[in-house]
Amino acid sequence: MPVAFIGHGSPMNALADNDYTRRLAALGRELPRPRGILCISAHWMTQGSWVTRMARPRTIHDFGGFPKALFDVQYPAPGSRELAELVQTVVSIPQIDGNDAGDSDEWGLDHGTWSVLRHMYPNADVPVVQLSLAMDEGPRYHFELGAKLKSLRDQGVLILGSGNIVHNLRVLDWDEAAPVMGWAREFDEWVKTRIEARDWQALLEHADDTDAGKLAIPTPDHWYPLLYVLGASTPKDGLSWAFEGIQNGSISMRSLLLG
Ligand code: ZN
Repeated sequence: MPVAFIGHGSPMNALADNDYTRRLAALGRELPRPRGILCISAHWMTQGSWVTRMARPRTIHDFGGFPKALFDVQYPAPGSRELAELVQTVVSIPQIDGNDAGDSDEWGLDHGTWSVLRHMYPNADVPVVQLSLAMDEGPRYHFELGAKLKSLRDQGVLILGSGNIVHNLRVLDWDEAAPVMGWAREFDEWVKTRIEARDWQALLEHADDTDAGKLAIPTPDHWYPLLYVLGASTPKDGLSWAFEGIQNGSISMRSLLLG
């Protein structure tokens, strides 16, 4: 299986029909059908790494101030104990288990996961497991954990990182088609060239060296999912840009496949 990083942007993309969402839908049809999806979402931040194991993960509406239609969205993909166990064979981390109903109050599928997957797999028929972001760890930890998970690709698992290369809510323009801010373009282009050069070192150590980088990554939650995907890639993987574009003046929707 290839590995994918998807920029998810505003939760409203879950309901939208635009170039970006149509591209996600096409991607879901073009990729080999996965046995399961291991999603690393920007929106599950924990101390240490955790993995979901419940049979029926609930749809989490982890945002405020959006229309009711967005809160009404359900993404009833099954979980997968088997996939959670597979994760455990390569890295020993605690699991969020379910109750007798197969559900859990502690986590489920957050909008970083379902706003993307509802376009890629609209029938919600591929099992999904989430891996949390250990916010007490630095970039190299996330990259190396991605590398450990690489072997799951040979077993039909789609490793999918969901975040954004440029994500700063304080300077966001609520107009989706707002003019692109120069620093956002600069950082997005820099990341593009570093990925094309397979220069992981620069991405791990120098992403926030510049003013543009500091603005693009004010907090690392939307950045770290990319590092798992880079870590899980191999030198033999071909690179393709699944989507390129900037929404809301500064949110990079840049998405990629390695495989
Ligand atoms: Zn987000």
